[in-house]
Amino acid sequence: MNKLQKPDYSDFGELNQLIGSFDVHKGYAALVATAMQEISVMENKASHLWECGTYLELDEQGRLVKSTLCRERRCPLCQWRRSLRVYGQVQKMLQWLEPGGYKYLHLVLTIPNCRADDLKNQCDWLYTRSTAMFSDRLFGKRDQLGPIAHCKRSFKGIVRALEVTYNSDTDLYHPHLHCLIAVKSSYFTNPADYYSQEKLSVLWTGYAAPNFGMKHGDLFVLHVKRVKDSEKNNAVAEVAKYAVKPFHCDLDIDGYKKILPVLNRALSGRRMLQIYGVFADAARALKIDLNDDKEETEDSGALTRKFSFIHGKYREVAKHD
Ligand SMILES: [Zn+2]
Repeated sequence: MNKLQKPDYSDFGELNQLIGSFDVHKGYAALVATAMQEISVMENKASHLWECGTYLELDEQGRLVKSTLCRERRCPLCQWRRSLRVYGQVQKMLQWLEPGGYKYLHLVLTIPNCRADDLKNQCDWLYTRSTAMFSDRLFGKRDQLGPIAHCKRSFKGIVRALEVTYNSDTDLYHPHLHCLIAVKSSYFTNPADYYSQEKLSVLWTGYAAPNFGMKHGDLFVLHVKRVKDSEKNNAVAEVAKYAVKPFHCDLDIDGYKKILPVLNRALSGRRMLQIYGVFADAARALKIDLNDDKEETEDSGALTRKFSFIHGKYREVAKHD
């Protein structure tokens, strides 16, 4: 057995920070695991979360060479790793698409907040609705809204991510979709292609408002923003962060006990991220699978540092091989 050493990160500023982030997310995992333990159908998952990331082996660039991640959907540590991975993958896809001269939009599609019992149905609705919208299948040819359904022509590629947030004051859930959309640069100057926020809101809402207790003619909240070239990273981060959000709101054990079964029921088996058009082309060319949970672990034979999670903190167990 390796003897415990006092951690000395002084010559590894960034790794020091990284271990600090592992500490934070492992802390959240412990909180979620504690709540899961008290939910009978989740006891199994709880033990996976307790075991998750108790051992880490990192190389000098901070890449994870070996670990014991559990890959459970609701594990905050794994979700954080996943969001970093998605961030890197989408970044690579954007680089691959660079010669195409695409511009990007950040689109957020929402519906009214809902109660726990309705969350699964509302998530289904968001998926079906957005897929129909992006493929111009919302309205018939003779429908008065038919002419504004031209997403296929206007949007060249889409990354769609589901995010669910929870408001403990109102006890309501807010499922919504973050989309990163690639458009040709002529999109902004060609009135036939361009979507104003209002036009897109009308298209997204269609005739559905009364189904959600709203008046006919009311519009669902929708945000669309052109991504400035200098802000491309922020948009990528926004799409990637879906993975982390619900577990980093300030909930106590009872709060988690309440929302975990709800999220589990609504989201299990669901693909959280989907890509279409030029993003799918990029992913194919680069052999990227956004839903692949494997952490890239290539043992380059370089020196590694090993950490174990002991008494609520990562501690270095042996500095070198
Ligand atoms: Zn995990």
